[in-house]
Amino acid sequence: MKTNKFETNAIRSQLGRTQFLEHSVPIYLTSSFVFEDAEDMRASFAEEKERNIYSRYSNPNASEFIEKVCQMEGAENGFAFASGMAAVFSTFAALLNSGDHMLSARNIFGSTHSLLTNFFPKWNIDHTYFKIDDLDSVEALITPKTKLIYAETPTNPGVDILDLEKLGRIAKRNKLILVIDNCFASPYLQQPIKFGADLVIHSGTKLMDGQGRVLAGITVGNKELIDRIYRFSRITGPALSPFNAWILSKSLETLAIRVDRHCENALRLATFLESHNKVNWVKYPFLKSHPKYAIAKKQMKAGGCVVAFEVKGGLEAGRRFFDAIKMLSLSANLGDSRSIVTHPASTTHSKLSAKEREETGITDGMVRISVGLEHIDDIIADIEQALR
Ligand SMILES: *Cc1c(COP(=O)(O)O)cnc(C)c1O
Repeated sequence: MKTNKFETNAIRSQLGRTQFLEHSVPIYLTSSFVFEDAEDMRASFAEEKERNIYSRYSNPNASEFIEKVCQMEGAENGFAFASGMAAVFSTFAALLNSGDHMLSARNIFGSTHSLLTNFFPKWNIDHTYFKIDDLDSVEALITPKTKLIYAETPTNPGVDILDLEKLGRIAKRNKLILVIDNCFASPYLQQPIKFGADLVIHSGTKLMDGQGRVLAGITVGNKELIDRIYRFSRITGPALSPFNAWILSKSLETLAIRVDRHCENALRLATFLESHNKVNWVKYPFLKSHPKYAIAKKQMKAGGCVVAFEVKGGLEAGRRFFDAIKMLSLSANLGDSRSIVTHPASTTHSKLSAKEREETGITDGMVRISVGLEHIDDIIADIEQALR
């Protein structure tokens, strides 16, 4: 049955049944696959046949996960990785050569920033950062060596919003590959390919799994680009395990319903915080006070699970707030069914210099909350008593 309904595809697009006619898809926990005869083996290795050979290249559970995400994102093909960072690294490493240059938004995930700054220079891959609020100046940064543009929206941890349509036009006009890390939105809230992205990356660890169990990553998009990523990855070996792929495929069945509740809870918490006298400011894409509210509304279905705010009183007040939290987890993950509070300045973004933190809007008193699926009254009650 063909449908364009997100929820139905998330549940019904699955592997065919085996001889046992199982209802739930089994886990193909196998490292390799067997061949009928010498000719079958030769033809398979020659890629004259599309079939599984070895789970570093492909595996039925990984293929099912990839197929679901491709349907959600409107992508042609994809490759699944052992973590979000494996997806980020392998995508860049497959597409960029020594001497190439890329443009990246300044506000990106901490480990991606470290990759570009501390490791890519040793292979002579260079980058220039641009400000997401100033896309008009991006074209001036393009050099003859520039191959790719990279960005995230909403950003981590500041939940800033970048105009995807505008960046998509810039990439097309200059024939550059546009890669978007869509992890904060999930494919349910935002599909960057519609706005001109060539590739979309996810950390499956976050909203896709949604229950804090497994690490995973995926890159989907244009099939020629994915083919280059596949050729690189089948040799270098960052493949997702079949077990984790199975977990992810199951989780995607409930993505829409989970993310709806995450967003409903997050908006209610953000609205509560906005009126609290111990809070300096609150940022959430679907709050009218967000500077990019109109763009968020244009490109996202809802605001996502992350709320950022600043406790009055700076670092010391921030510490006291964290120590007073009773139910919410002090942890570094996000997109989990459990609400999580993080202090970016002393944890996830502590490797950045004070100047870099300032440039990316990470203040000492800033708190990031990944709003979970507990009852919203209990989430608010814990935060309210901690603020008190
Ligand atoms: C977590 C995260 C990653 C990295 O994913 P892992 O699964 O932890 O390797 C990349 N980008 C963003 C935006 C993230 O939040």
